[in-house]
Amino acid sequence: MGRMSQQQFENFTASSLYCEKCKTAMPVRERLLLMLPDKEIYDYLCTGCAMSVGQREMTAGEKLMAQRNVARRPRRRAASHRIRL
Ligand SMILES: [Zn+2]
Repeated sequence: MGRMSQQQFENFTASSLYCEKCKTAMPVRERLLLMLPDKEIYDYLCTGCAMSVGQREMTAGEKLMAQRNVARRPRRRAASHRIRL
């Protein structure tokens, strides 16, 4: 389950989502909609018309995984610099 949701997460966080109003994939803006003790709900707004094009729940575990994914990327460039979490 963990691995599958990670893949979905990566797909979903693509910087563009289809907007019904603009009738095309538009860059989106992420907005924190609701913060709960165990999860956060984000709203994705089209940057063209500001309409909500999607929402996403991020659990505490997914958030942690996302942060690790981000931290993992610059590893090659920052080989001599250790990232502390
Ligand atoms: Zn739009």
